Amino acid sequence: MWAARRSLIILVVGILVGGIAKYGLLDEGEVPALSTYALDLARVRSMALGGELPLRVNAEVVAKSRVPAIALMAGNSPWVYQEMVRTAYQVVYSEGRSVIIDTGPDRQLHEELSPEGPFYPERFAAVQRAMLFAEAIVVTHDHPDHIGGIARSPNLEHIRDRIVLTREQLDNREQLDKVGYPFDTLGAVEALDYRQYHRLAPGIVLIKAPGHTPGSQMVFVKLAGGRELLFVGDVAWHMDNIEIPRGRALAISKFVVGEDRSAVLHQLRALHSLRSPSLHMVVSHDSAQLGRLRASGVLGRAFE
Ligand SMILES: [Zn+2]
Ligand SMILES: [Zn+2]
Repeated sequence: MWAARRSLIILVVGILVGGIAKYGLLDEGEVPALSTYALDLARVRSMALGGELPLRVNAEVVAKSRVPAIALMAGNSPWVYQEMVRTAYQVVYSEGRSVIIDTGPDRQLHEELSPEGPFYPERFAAVQRAMLFAEAIVVTHDHPDHIGGIARSPNLEHIRDRIVLTREQLDNREQLDKVGYPFDTLGAVEALDYRQYHRLAPGIVLIKAPGHTPGSQMVFVKLAGGRELLFVGDVAWHMDNIEIPRGRALAISKFVVGEDRSAVLHQLRALHSLRSPSLHMVVSHDSAQLGRLRASGVLGRAFE
């Protein structure tokens, strides 16, 4: 009798746990058929033109991590692990001028996020060196693996006049406090206010994309040779999120990231619709995609 009751309890608990896991991790990545997120690419393209366009873009992998595939996308396997990269990008103009997009985490922030993956101090140093000479430094959003290189920069007082953070990024004090951004001493920078699109420099347009964080933005880059890149930040963690399209698992989205899930899913639909061979979407953490973009020469292998 007791054994039967115990089996019944185990069965009920199993169904409950399985149901929650299925709901939270497998089913809930559905992207809406129509997007309410408007990205007027024609307008962005026209804003990017004018002036001397950049020549090339380099990517530097500051650190790597390994996560179960299910963390990247609802319905993926919980047993297969995928490599993720933590990247910084350098947009290079003639005469060595440059703009930096995302700055990676420093070692401490990286180890807090994922102690199991390697951190490359010489590459973090290369990003820091490049930041010293850059004309502007922007981030796709205010998470530690993107803004950490600013917040923890040993050169903050030398670069702060070129740091471009948006009003929403600077207003997210809880997030910036978490990465140790030294607001009250070296960190004071002027907030950038813009509504939808902002031309940062010739060939570079910032695109507001609140959702993953309130201060998330995408960065469109048009090169002199005609190539176009769209840095989507963490709207997606893997290009499959855009290709299929399917979102992060509900449990990850809600309880790990704490993002505006609906906004992100609508952005994924918009990006899915904008896919074309001439527009290279760059997903910050997608290791396999980075390999392809480097192999085809869309992204350089290291900072200059
Ligand atoms: Zn993020
Ligand atoms: Zn990230």
